[in-house]
Amino acid sequence: MLSKIFFTSCAWGISILSFWSFFMSLKKGIRHLKRLHQIPCSDCKYFTNDYRLKCTVHPINACTEEALGCIDFAPKYNNENNI
Ligand code: SF4
Repeated sequence: MLSKIFFTSCAWGISILSFWSFFMSLKKGIRHLKRLHQIPCSDCKYFTNDYRLKCTVHPINACTEEALGCIDFAPKYNNENNI
């Protein structure tokens, strides 16, 4: 009887830890994806969309987390003239 309680509680413990680990990984992945979506390069006028030279100003940092907060970011389109 005592061993049954022990193994049942072990099974529940492992299940709960597995679910907790899964949800923590999911939460971490979502946070990382949100951060990657903040990279501004695709909306920047210096972005070439060419894998050989992604950016004419910061070719190494373009499309990486290093580009977050890039001081040379310039919007592709000018909203005032709708160009
Ligand atoms: S200038 Fe900065 S924001 Fe613009 S494409 Fe290059 S790295 Fe990205």
